[in-house]
Amino acid sequence: MSTVEDQIEQVTATQDGTPDFSMALNQDQKDLQEWVHGFAESVVRPAAEEWDEKESTPWPVIQEAAKIGLYSFESLAQFFADPTGLTLPIVNEELFWGDAGIGMALMGTTLGVAAIFGQGTGEQIGEWVPRCFGTPDKPAVAAFCSSEPNAGSDVSAVRTTAKYDEAKDEWVINGQKAWATNGGIADVHVVIAQVDPSLGTRGHAAFVVGPENTGLTQGAKVKKHGLRASHTADVYLDDCRVPSSQLLGGKEKLDERLARAREGKSSRGNASMATFEASRPVVGAQALGIARAAYEYALDYAKNREQFGKAIIENQAIAFTLANMKMEIDAARLLVWRASWMGRNQVPFENAEGSMSKLKAGEVAVWTTERAMQILGGNGYAREYPVERWHRDAKIYDIFEGTAEIQRIVISRAISGVHIR
Ligand SMILES: Cc1cc2nc3c(=O)[nH]c(=O)nc-3n(C[C@H](O)[C@H](O)[C@H](O)COP(=O)(O)OP(=O)(O)OC[C@H]3O[C@@H](n4cnc5c(N)ncnc54)[C@H](O)[C@@H]3O)c2cc1C
Repeated sequence: MSTVEDQIEQVTATQDGTPDFSMALNQDQKDLQEWVHGFAESVVRPAAEEWDEKESTPWPVIQEAAKIGLYSFESLAQFFADPTGLTLPIVNEELFWGDAGIGMALMGTTLGVAAIFGQGTGEQIGEWVPRCFGTPDKPAVAAFCSSEPNAGSDVSAVRTTAKYDEAKDEWVINGQKAWATNGGIADVHVVIAQVDPSLGTRGHAAFVVGPENTGLTQGAKVKKHGLRASHTADVYLDDCRVPSSQLLGGKEKLDERLARAREGKSSRGNASMATFEASRPVVGAQALGIARAAYEYALDYAKNREQFGKAIIENQAIAFTLANMKMEIDAARLLVWRASWMGRNQVPFENAEGSMSKLKAGEVAVWTTERAMQILGGNGYAREYPVERWHRDAKIYDIFEGTAEIQRIVISRAISGVHIR
């Protein structure tokens, strides 16, 4: 009996012989999905409870991922290279199906990497991206530091400054960053700083800071509700000096961009927003992984748990909830895959499709995990079962990389052209 995917492939192949549109994954994508799922099932999920309780970075799991080639700049480059754009969300969904805290400990690095890829010169990419991952024997992580105590949703409120010291051809960075994933434990920190406060977000620039640069220290580590295997901390920059070569994109490009902004001409946007736009569909895929884990667990539980002499799934109240969970997850995945394909093929997000995908997937994860808890009854609320952890983990997807409210602002502005506040 052929699967739905096989049937889709046959139909698309027989129409005119050129299957230029297909909803089916290709064999490479299926193989990769299976490989990452195997790692998530055999290594990540069994370790999830331990690292959630410890609330610390799961270095042995990161090392294992590095040893099998899942955590490396080569593998990330391979995931990025897929012209359909679907490989990276598939990898993220499977990993986060295993566990979101460990998933973030592995994938938090990609935010820093995305900033370097998006804004760095070829030379900077070649030098800094491998350093974000380290080696299989000594893996490293990277951090992306944009948020500050008074600059969360309002990126224009960033107060960290970078001043150019012409005599030494160095930049001097001062300020406090908040909420940085891997902040203080990373080998590579990408820091967003203000170089011309009069220009708002257009006066921002991104710098890479390595362990050889002095003046960057970790502040308080955040004790969190969920994603507890992922390290989150404040970062202090106290006369942190970096050579000019560590300004992403280089000084000439920055000067040109600032000159255009001062003349009131349009630019390609600011340093943080460029990183977030590219990463939102992938973040949506992470939320999907959590939602799918909770749905699958609840489905299985509902078939096995008996009350009033029958399996609880035989009640429509439970069965219809599970039907809705599955439908919402599949709908969210379609938005994530669409935005991923658009991003990879440089199709402009005219209706904020990247934001749509992250918003939908985040809300589906929160709703699905809450419903899964309900289906498990008391067991849903107990720490011996993973659903309460998934529920805690899911909530962050309404908050980071742009809150749900900010995503709605971005989408409503995009569809209306009106400056909605
Ligand atoms: C676990 C975790 C990891 C993180 N990792 C990173 C990281 O690696 N790097 C990084 O730079 N940052 C990171 N962040 C920060 C994250 O991006 C911010 O928390 C987020 O942008 C929201 O900012 P805020 O917390 O200051 O909330 P605020 O901006 O203060 O928002 C508070 C509430 O007000 C609402 N609100 C604000 N403005 C408006 C408006 N105009 N209209 C309607 N509602 C509005 C928000 O939606 C929210 O509900 C992380 C945060 C967490 C919790």
